[in-house]
Amino acid sequence: MKKHFKLFLSLTISCVILSGCGETPVENIHEHVYDNPTYVWSDDFSICTATRVCVENNTHKEIETVNSVYTVISSPTCDSNGSGVYTATFVNPAFKKQTYEVTIETAPHEYGEISYTWSSDYSTCTAKRICNNNSSHIETETADSSYKVISPATMDSEGLGRYTAQFKNAAFEQQNHDIVLEKLYYGNYPQISLDGNTLTYGLYPQNNVNDETLLSSLNELSATESNGYYLYNDVYYAKLTAKPNDPQEKFDNGNSIVEGETYWFKCEPITWNILSKNNDEYYLLSSVLIDNHCYTSEYDRLLDGYYIPNNDFEYSDIRSWLNNEFFNSAFALNNSYIQLVTVDTPRAPEPADFTEQFHQSTQNKVYLPSYYDYLNTSYNFPDSTEPTIIRCCKTTDWTRANGAFSWSTEDEYKNCGSYLTRSPYTNHNSFVYEVDVNGGLYETRSLKANLGVRPAITIKLS
Ligand SMILES: [Zn+2]
Ligand SMILES: [Zn+2]
Repeated sequence: MKKHFKLFLSLTISCVILSGCGETPVENIHEHVYDNPTYVWSDDFSICTATRVCVENNTHKEIETVNSVYTVISSPTCDSNGSGVYTATFVNPAFKKQTYEVTIETAPHEYGEISYTWSSDYSTCTAKRICNNNSSHIETETADSSYKVISPATMDSEGLGRYTAQFKNAAFEQQNHDIVLEKLYYGNYPQISLDGNTLTYGLYPQNNVNDETLLSSLNELSATESNGYYLYNDVYYAKLTAKPNDPQEKFDNGNSIVEGETYWFKCEPITWNILSKNNDEYYLLSSVLIDNHCYTSEYDRLLDGYYIPNNDFEYSDIRSWLNNEFFNSAFALNNSYIQLVTVDTPRAPEPADFTEQFHQSTQNKVYLPSYYDYLNTSYNFPDSTEPTIIRCCKTTDWTRANGAFSWSTEDEYKNCGSYLTRSPYTNHNSFVYEVDVNGGLYETRSLKANLGVRPAITIKLS
């Protein structure tokens, strides 16, 4: 009891000191009459201060400061705000419990992994991410890509091309898609020789393969590539069942070409002699007799009731073969340099009277030079039809195995063959001009089966 009394006294004295009531403090002790309490929150609502003031003497105050307790009422989502409440509870029963509600701003979407999807041609890339809180919250953006060659392919190594997609949304990262650029195969684009006289372009079976290990590997191959050739260790090969013109025909290595045997040949770049050059356009003539093919295979063909001469170039089998089969295999890897050219085909040596049904102008990707081309001195041919080594041309292993005639003497004419021009012979509908094995220009039967083919093309290097 004594202790409580002391406490009371101390409070009373304290009140007196606070009041500063002057000379007669004892008379001023009164029953306090308090106004309504006021409550003041700190800025961060962590503290609330309650105050009440005595109406008799405003220096008489009751003040209590407490820490608040924070409680979440509802959590925010990506769609809607949440709320929380600060609660201040006082010891002094005169002070009521205080609450202050606050808004909790919407929560950011909780996106999952970003998926990036390229279109099949890599022209666009689509980025997409989905909110874990609500799968209908989707962010997506489709960006157009740009393409750049990082390192070009060469004949020795593959190249690298890169598609790049950049997004406006900063959440999405730049995407790259790399593609391998196929090694340039020797022959799939024109290459001028160091001396500037020849050019290699296109690919055609030429030399016979006689390496036993390679042959056994080749014999395992069953499927051809789109160009009709077999691919083995990055090299193309073709096979052929031999039908030599003569049992004496041999490969370059001296082995006999046996009728009915199947042989393998390596596909090699075709070497072309540059006959003329006009800016970036080149008129090219094969440096070898690339294959064996007749000018026309059958007599007495009719078109719309009209007889087609056997030596008509437009409807010739050789023209069809050059522009279809040969073109599609030799230039399968890249035919973009080949020009479609219009060539005139006058009868040789002079235009004759009977020109009806005869077509003088044709459009070709691959064609045969005319009789006149082989007499053209600007192409470095002599202007005489007499034999000359300059017009002599050698057959390949492939060409001989496929039935072309070739010269067998052990001299400069060895393996040379006869070959076709596109020019019809004036005086007979079944005759055309050929360059003979000795380089002379003569008429020959258009149905002759053992003539070599020496194709010409016009290409544009740009
Ligand atoms: Zn008072
Ligand atoms: Zn969301």
